[in-house]
Amino acid sequence: MQIILFGAPGVGKGTQAKILSQKYNIKHISTGDILRDSVSRGTKSGIAAKEVMDRGDLVSDDLMGGLVKETLANMDYKTGFILDGFPRTIEQCKIMDSIFADLNITNPFFILLKADTEVIVNRLTQRRFCSKCEIIVNLNDIPNVNTCPNCGAVNSFIERMDDNAEVVRKRLGIYRDTTLPVIDYYQNKYKVAILNATDSVEVVTANIVKELI
Ligand code: AMP
Repeated sequence: MQIILFGAPGVGKGTQAKILSQKYNIKHISTGDILRDSVSRGTKSGIAAKEVMDRGDLVSDDLMGGLVKETLANMDYKTGFILDGFPRTIEQCKIMDSIFADLNITNPFFILLKADTEVIVNRLTQRRFCSKCEIIVNLNDIPNVNTCPNCGAVNSFIERMDDNAEVVRKRLGIYRDTTLPVIDYYQNKYKVAILNATDSVEVVTANIVKELI
């Protein structure tokens, strides 16, 4: 099963992708996570990407296309994968087309998660990662903003550099202008399921699962 998950930053793609990857035992490929890992390891691509990511811009299509190709080439892509964060530009769609053709992937599922801008801004600016157990939380949803509800660690939350309000608005502008045309591109070729992302995590998962049957 090959799933391509679309949606604005903060809409819950990462959360859903993790759940689906466990449910179907398929690899979760998040281009944002791959880049953040490269940044933390100080690789050449990480050093090149860091500044671009921190200001909320998109990393070059060539770099991203190369990373996705390399990731798929080094895994059992036939078993399945869930791609989160790629393609984000029409140029990346063309790279994806050539990857589909090379790997003989003919029937991927396309899922678009949608939510209003204000919901997304609120989610992103309140989003934190626990540095101990790596769970993602929303400060509005947990009883104590200093304590991780998953592992109990105190003062372990980290905010992503690109989750401050100004950068979030920039990322949403780029999504609207550059990434939304990607949906039209695919709607002309495949079925794209459009789902409401403001339901609870469980309901959104159940709605995605219905589309995958
Ligand atoms: P994400 O975690 O998906 O929100 O991605 C974080 C940042 O990584 C984005 O704001 C971009 O700077 C960069 N990034 C991730 N995926 C892509 C992509 N497909 N194309 C260009 N930049 C990307």
